[in-house]
Amino acid sequence: MTILKGTFTSVWDGGTEIETEGTLNTDTGQIDTEQVDADVEVLEEEYFTDENGNVHEVCSVCHEYTTKVVVIEGIGKQLTDHRVCNDPDCDNSEQNL
Ligand SMILES: [Zn+2]
Repeated sequence: MTILKGTFTSVWDGGTEIETEGTLNTDTGQIDTEQVDADVEVLEEEYFTDENGNVHEVCSVCHEYTTKVVVIEGIGKQLTDHRVCNDPDCDNSEQNL
């Protein structure tokens, strides 16, 4: 199991960026950080920058796991990309596509 230190960044409506320190479990994609409470503002984007400088997009549903891209064969055998959560229990997981 690898735990990387890094910075969790949330970008709010109007461009406000809030950074908190956190860790990323690279096996499960789970992020551990202090929850940010910003009341009425709209969350636009969340990502985690690990200690190696790699940026991981964070699930917009559970806010606790990074996401991955899966390719699914759709109508007419057309391949489409879907960004899903690494947490199998999340509503945004690959199982719920
Ligand atoms: Zn999720």
